[in-house]
Amino acid sequence: MTAVDESDRPADRFDAARRTALQHVDGGTCWHCIGGTCSQRTWALEELTRHPGGRQVLDKLRTPKPVKTMTEEGQQR
Ligand SMILES: [Zn+2]
Repeated sequence: MTAVDESDRPADRFDAARRTALQHVDGGTCWHCIGGTCSQRTWALEELTRHPGGRQVLDKLRTPKPVKTMTEEGQQR
């Protein structure tokens, strides 16, 4: 905790997590992926939740289709 570890800076961790998460979009894989399971991806998703800007990244990743409020009014009736 008191050690000056470059690789332990929140910004670096966030960037690494974001890159890892983005890498797995659309069925992407990394060299951590083993048989469909990826501990790195799991870590990345968890890490992103710990950062203020991480939620925005997660929203992008988890949005399969535009879920904007573009619902047509005629759809309800
Ligand atoms: Zn992976």
